[in-house]
Amino acid sequence: MKKYPIHQALKHFFGYDNFRLNQQVIIETVLSGKDVMAIMPTGGGKSICYQLPAVLLDGLTIVISPLIALMKDQVDALQANGIRAAYLNSTLSNSEQNTIITAVRNGEVKLLYLAPERLFASGMQFINFLTTLPCSLFAVDEAHCISQWGHDFRPEYLGLAALKQHFPHVPVIALTASADTITQKDILEKLALRQPQVFISSFNRANINYYIQPKKKAFEQIIHYLDKHRNDSGIIYTLSRASTESIASKLKEVGYDAAYYHAGMGNDERAKVQESFQRDDTKIIVATIAFGMGIDKPNVRFVLHYDVPKNMEGYYQETGRAGRDGLKSDAIMYYSSGDISKLMRFITVDGNAAQTNVLKKKLMQMKEFAEYEGCRRQYILQYFGERAPAYCGSCDYCLSNLEHRTATIEAQKILSAVTRTGERFGAEYLVDFLRGSNSAKILPAHKELKTYGIGKELKKEEWQAIVRQLLQQRLVELEDGAYPALKLNEASRRILRGELEVTLVLKKPKEEVTDVSSAPQHHPDLLRELKEVRREIAEQENVPAYIIVGDNTLLDMATYLPLTFDGLRKISGFGDYKVSKYGPAFMKVLQAYANEHKLESKIQLKAPKKERVAKPAKETTTISNTQRISFDMFKDGYDIADIAQKRNLSTNTIETHLLPFVTSGELSATKLVNKAKLDIIVALIKQTGHTQALKPLKDLLPDDYTYGEIKFAQAHYEWVKDA
Ligand code: ADP
Ligand code: ZN
Repeated sequence: MKKYPIHQALKHFFGYDNFRLNQQVIIETVLSGKDVMAIMPTGGGKSICYQLPAVLLDGLTIVISPLIALMKDQVDALQANGIRAAYLNSTLSNSEQNTIITAVRNGEVKLLYLAPERLFASGMQFINFLTTLPCSLFAVDEAHCISQWGHDFRPEYLGLAALKQHFPHVPVIALTASADTITQKDILEKLALRQPQVFISSFNRANINYYIQPKKKAFEQIIHYLDKHRNDSGIIYTLSRASTESIASKLKEVGYDAAYYHAGMGNDERAKVQESFQRDDTKIIVATIAFGMGIDKPNVRFVLHYDVPKNMEGYYQETGRAGRDGLKSDAIMYYSSGDISKLMRFITVDGNAAQTNVLKKKLMQMKEFAEYEGCRRQYILQYFGERAPAYCGSCDYCLSNLEHRTATIEAQKILSAVTRTGERFGAEYLVDFLRGSNSAKILPAHKELKTYGIGKELKKEEWQAIVRQLLQQRLVELEDGAYPALKLNEASRRILRGELEVTLVLKKPKEEVTDVSSAPQHHPDLLRELKEVRREIAEQENVPAYIIVGDNTLLDMATYLPLTFDGLRKISGFGDYKVSKYGPAFMKVLQAYANEHKLESKIQLKAPKKERVAKPAKETTTISNTQRISFDMFKDGYDIADIAQKRNLSTNTIETHLLPFVTSGELSATKLVNKAKLDIIVALIKQTGHTQALKPLKDLLPDDYTYGEIKFAQAHYEWVKDA
């Protein structure tokens, strides 16, 4: 094995500065020779998890992948980094295949991509050939294809069950983006992994903004969005083939660079559209869900849903095609509940009532998500079994102006309706009952009750919204079952006794906002020139442009102006191989631009992470001795609890001692509050304007956010605000 610390190898071979998610621990585990299963969301960076070990290990890594269309791309990308990779599949001629087999035999290939069926082609011949080679690792990509429980079962994957028999000593890494626990277990069993280490990464796609907007005139809504994103590339999903064609042609009429894609088109035509999108020749694809498998274009800036998807899995997958390069991207769904009803009519699987029910249930969850009055990201993550805070700061709900209104009386009316009718009815009935509906549905006995008709002052939808909020805030429970009834819980009883106030959070919708403040200041003309250089190189090498370097890499160059090769190395995406191969072409443009505009390099700002400079404490805040003592102890490495104990003071007091140092910037809040939490609290402070009051923020945040953390975040905000 080559002696590279793995961070250095990551930079050297791939040009990346940091590992993402679980990449590092996965790679270390693979290198230690253990079997691994890695579950990471699409775009999370699964490939590096076997590609980096492949280049570090002696011998050959075999990569099993079902997506023949993707192999060439992956291999091109590796070769662009100077890594010897090849693939064998039916798209190659016999003589091309023989050339590759010879190269493999001569030890000239580090990674070999194969479709599963290829492994068992011509009986055992190929397997026997592989057993003569120094195989160091098997990577099984899209491993969920081996399981009937997965959403994409492929019988040819079942052959992989024999892998461990033929290669008992070669470690296996199975990779998938499917999260479901039954499928996970099945994969481990089928592949017969030995004491596997399982790594599951978060499904959160932090750089995707989620928006759902009421669908009115959907085409105009789309144009409205596209108009503001002229240079961006994206996908518009719609449900029918016919509408992909009509929307694409209407877009073209009004001057957009759009094409359509659906499963009714011929293979060649489809490949052409896909290729042109990959290469940025076509900016917008209007497609059915047939489009996506095998697309790994990193710079998809938006995914628009013209129609509602049939389930959350589909929604997550389709929106997940945005922002694989980690840059901010938008996922917008135009939603009307009528679309759900339309879908519901077509959802029946003939002769399979059980399957039909599963599909219907999934569609109803989609509806629930679209109508959810809370953080979209939280809903998505919870759907996939992950805990998440109630505020993300980057979905339509979290970005809207939230208005807080006391609604204790309304809640009491609903809850007493629940008790009076014996906790046996659902929201629909209860709302009709409250509004004194004359409908025959309402039991005659109920019409005699005092609570009947006490809620005439609000509209049906308003009552329904209140019920939804009570449920979301867990102030009332919903029974399981086909016609779920509302039931009281302890919180409901406290509300009825007048011991608990109810606050509703109502949102005033805002338009989607693209985060401009976080976008680095780059030189747009330079960016255009760099893109042109990239396009020329890509054309010469006959690969998609992003294989050369990604958009984020260009953006960094146009922002930080690296004017030396060492500087270039600091740009994410430039490994040593790429610096020497493509560096000169980019450097020429960079230096010319800097000369012409008399600009200096800003690359020193790029590395390491920017630290803000502390500013002296404001004159008005006088720091007392006792505060200074606590701060000094903190600097010496004692934590708040230690200091409190040693000084015989409360932790609360010590926190108060430290606050002015956070406000002045002498002490970074990140030393006191986890960064993710800090970001969330600060976003919430900005949004609500609560720079002083603690309680309103505490109420909006998940329970595990402490008052101390909120105080520090406010102090931090105070500092950054006028820094
Ligand atoms: P997946 O297979 O999980 O969908 P990929 O392996 O294709 O994702 O990676 C998605 C994108 O992220 C690719 O463009 C890849 O080059 C990039 N990437 C992966 N790991 C890193 C990293 N550590 N730093 C920066 N970019 C990365
Ligand atoms: Zn949110």
